[in-house]
Amino acid sequence: MPDCIFCKIVAGQIPAAKLAETERVVSFMDIAPVNHGHALVIPKRHVESMLELTEEELHDCIVTAQRVAKAVTKATGSVGLNLLQNNHRCAGQVVPHAHFHVIPRSPEDGFRFGWRQGAYARGEMEALHKKIMGLM
Ligand code: 5GP
Ligand code: ZN
Repeated sequence: MPDCIFCKIVAGQIPAAKLAETERVVSFMDIAPVNHGHALVIPKRHVESMLELTEEELHDCIVTAQRVAKAVTKATGSVGLNLLQNNHRCAGQVVPHAHFHVIPRSPEDGFRFGWRQGAYARGEMEALHKKIMGLM
């Protein structure tokens, strides 16, 4: 993908502070971190969404995310961690190349998700559950 910033990082055309690499994925520091130590793990192959990843790519993404998270946690002395993955603009994805965020967290970092919790009408969850199960 010629105009993809993450493909350019994979190709070595623009610099990145790399943390880890496998045959299928690469991890590097996020340039505009939520907290210091914020890292990204991306597949080398250009896909927009995690729904398009192969099982092998997913495996490398999650194993690399844990490896990076352990080192980032130790290096920053952080207490907590978010593993975050946005797909599509409506879900907060800005760079349209699939990626996992590894974000170290501390009790006083001041960052909050705008978490919203809704409710189902009677029978609604059961109907949706049945529909989802029929598609798996
Ligand atoms: P998204 O909002 O798409 O889930 O996250 C994209 C992330 O990529 C952001 O956290 C942003 O700071 C990071 N990012 C965007 N451009 C670059 C870049 O050129 N280099 C690095 N290292 N990170 C980038
Ligand atoms: Zn790309």
